[in-house]
Amino acid sequence: MFIAEKIIKTVSYCSQAVSNLVFPRLCFGCDQSSVEENEFFCVACMTDLPFTEFEKIRDNPVEKLFWGRVKASFATSTFFYQEETPIQKAIHRIKYDNQRELGLFFGELMGYRLAGLTTCHKIDYLIPMPLHPKKEKSRGYNQASLLCRGMSKATGIPCHENFLKRSTHTATQTKKSRIERWENVSDVFGVNKDPAMLGKNILLVDDVITTGASTEACIQTLLDAGIGQVSVSSLAFTL
Ligand SMILES: [Zn+2]
Repeated sequence: MFIAEKIIKTVSYCSQAVSNLVFPRLCFGCDQSSVEENEFFCVACMTDLPFTEFEKIRDNPVEKLFWGRVKASFATSTFFYQEETPIQKAIHRIKYDNQRELGLFFGELMGYRLAGLTTCHKIDYLIPMPLHPKKEKSRGYNQASLLCRGMSKATGIPCHENFLKRSTHTATQTKKSRIERWENVSDVFGVNKDPAMLGKNILLVDDVITTGASTEACIQTLLDAGIGQVSVSSLAFTL
């Protein structure tokens, strides 16, 4: 039995080594450089990731999106979202290519950017931007939940994944004006009532913020439900 197990392990190890030799894991950014089993980007792509540094800037462009609309304690995005860049490709893979580990990886990165900030120390829960249940079922997961879990690992702040919910299906957001988008999303979000959440300080987590319309609707829903303070963190921000 012992020898048989040893043989199976050896064969498995050898086949993995051969597989890595024949099909090396490629960088998620450039699809060219090979990377280690537990890595996602080559050094060049990792160095080129477009960090915003917004978490260190008061009144940054993400915070300004909500000015005069809804009160966000602070808001930040870790990266600039640009077409045809490693970030755009990576987000596509997280959303449509079942790359869950990549979502956790980016969540950890987001968490480490916030972990040292005093604003982060006051947060009680991380809450993911909810997907429509049908979409989550067909995708198998909510990418914002993956980001939340990675952030939780980096910061130690717990996730509360089922508090905020999306209640009805929205028409596609593309080609709508900001006002039309707001009208389209303002009735969409709700909460699963939880008295323990009253007065809590939460961080709402999303993948990409563009107009901020959906985020704005979520913040309002959370404040209306008795949440004390809402802050926002997204993986990327569209200029
Ligand atoms: Zn690369």
